[in-house]
Amino acid sequence: MGAFCVYPDEYRPRRPKSTPLFRLLDTHYEEFRDVYDERFSKRYGFWRPVIDEVLTKYNQCGDFHYGFARIRCKECGAEYLRAFSCKCRGFCPSCSKRKSLDLAIFLEEELFRPVPHRHWVWSVPKMLRLHFLHHRKLLPKLCRCAWDALTIFLHEALDHRNVFPGGILVPQTFGGMANWNPHVHALITDTCWDREGHCYPMPEIDTTDIKGIEELFAGLVFRMLLEENMISEELVKNMNSWKHSGFSVHRGSSIKAEDEDSRKTLSEYISRAPFSLERMTFNKGSDTVLYRGEHFHPTLARNFDVSDPIEWIARITSHIPKKGAKQVIYYGAYSQAWRGRERRQGILPKAEAAEDSPSSQSCSSYSRRRRQQWAVFLKKVWDVDALKCPKCGGDMKVISLIEQPSVIKRILKHLDLWEDPRPPPIPLEMVCEPDADYIPWQDDVLEIEVG
Ligand SMILES: [Zn+2]
Ligand SMILES: [Zn+2]
Repeated sequence: MGAFCVYPDEYRPRRPKSTPLFRLLDTHYEEFRDVYDERFSKRYGFWRPVIDEVLTKYNQCGDFHYGFARIRCKECGAEYLRAFSCKCRGFCPSCSKRKSLDLAIFLEEELFRPVPHRHWVWSVPKMLRLHFLHHRKLLPKLCRCAWDALTIFLHEALDHRNVFPGGILVPQTFGGMANWNPHVHALITDTCWDREGHCYPMPEIDTTDIKGIEELFAGLVFRMLLEENMISEELVKNMNSWKHSGFSVHRGSSIKAEDEDSRKTLSEYISRAPFSLERMTFNKGSDTVLYRGEHFHPTLARNFDVSDPIEWIARITSHIPKKGAKQVIYYGAYSQAWRGRERRQGILPKAEAAEDSPSSQSCSSYSRRRRQQWAVFLKKVWDVDALKCPKCGGDMKVISLIEQPSVIKRILKHLDLWEDPRPPPIPLEMVCEPDADYIPWQDDVLEIEVG
C-alpha cells in the first residue's frame, strides 16, 4: 500500500484535538456526567442519553483512528486519506458550520424565489423559556405560532385568506452567551402568492402593525402552552397585565432579490451553532472558561462571561437537539406541499417547470451539484480545495471508505500514525463526505398544511 498519504497539513486544519473545546471535554466531561443529576438536573432536566451519543461522535470527529475515506486523483493517481466527520448538529463546531453552509447553498440553489426577503425574529419572555427546555417538542410549535401570527395579520391586511409568503423558520435555543433562550429566526419573502401562482405584494407594515403581530404571537403562544398544560389561565392573566409583555417581534430590512450575499449570510446566521469556538478560551491553569459574546449582554452588563468548566459544559450541551428534531421548517409557498402542487400545475418558474420531473429527479440533480459544492464548502470553511489534487491540481474522487478497525490499524501503523492505546472504536453512524444522501428538504422538512 505504498501510494497512501494522509492529507498534507494544510488539508487537516481542523485538528480537533488542539481546540479548547476538545481539551475542556477531555478534562471535565466525566466529572460533568458524574455530578449532572445532583448539580444540573433541576435546571436542565433529566440526563439525556443524546448528550453522550453526540459527545462520543464529536470525540471521534476528524480522527483517523475511527475511519476515513480513500481519495484518489483522477489525473495522477495520487491517493489521500480523509478522516470522517461526526456531522453532529448543534454541537460540533466544524460540522455545524458545514451544515449551515450546506443549508445556505441549498436555499440559494433550490428554494429562494427571485423576490426580496426579510429576516424576522420572534422571542418569548424569560418566564416561559424553561418550558421549551424541558419539553423540546414545543420548539416546532413555537415556530408555528410565529408563522400563524404573521399570516393572520397578512390575511387581514390583504383581505385575502388564501395568500401566503414563503417562510424558512428555524427554532434557535441559545442567546449570545450560549445561555438558554428559545426564539424563532426566519427568512420570509416580501411577497405573497395564492394557489394559482398570482403575486401579492406585502402590505406596508409599520411599528403599530409589528405590535399587533407581537400581540397575536403572545396570544398564540399562551394558547399553545395552555393546551399543553404547561401554564395556568391565572399566569396568562397575570402576564397580560404586565406593561412589557416580554414577547418581541423583530423585522429586518428588506434584502433585494439580487442580493445573494446578504441572503447567504443570513441563511448561515439563522442556522448557526450555539457557540463559536473562536470566542471560547479554556484556561486549564485557572480552570475557567471565558466566552466572548458577540454583543454586550444587558443582564450580565458585559460582553463576556467567565464560567466554571462543568457549568459551561452543562450550558452548551443543553442545546443539543432531540434526535430527529426538525431544525429547519418550511412554510407557505416554501413548503413541500405547496411546491409540489405548483410543479404539478406547471406554475413554477420556467427552468424548474421545464424539467417536468418528479421531485426525486430534482433531488438527484441537487445531490450531484452538492458533490461539486462540497469542495466549495471545504474551501470556505478550511480554506483548502479538498477535491483538487495537491500534487497536480486534478480532480479527486472518493474511492472507498475504510471502517474496519483492523484495516484502519494496519494502514495507520504503516503510515506511522497509529497511537496506542486507543479506546475501542464505538460503531456509530459515521458518515463520510461527500455525503450525497443528505438533502435538507428530506432531512429537515416538517410538513405543514397551509391554509
Ligand atoms: Zn464533527
Ligand atoms: Zn494529481
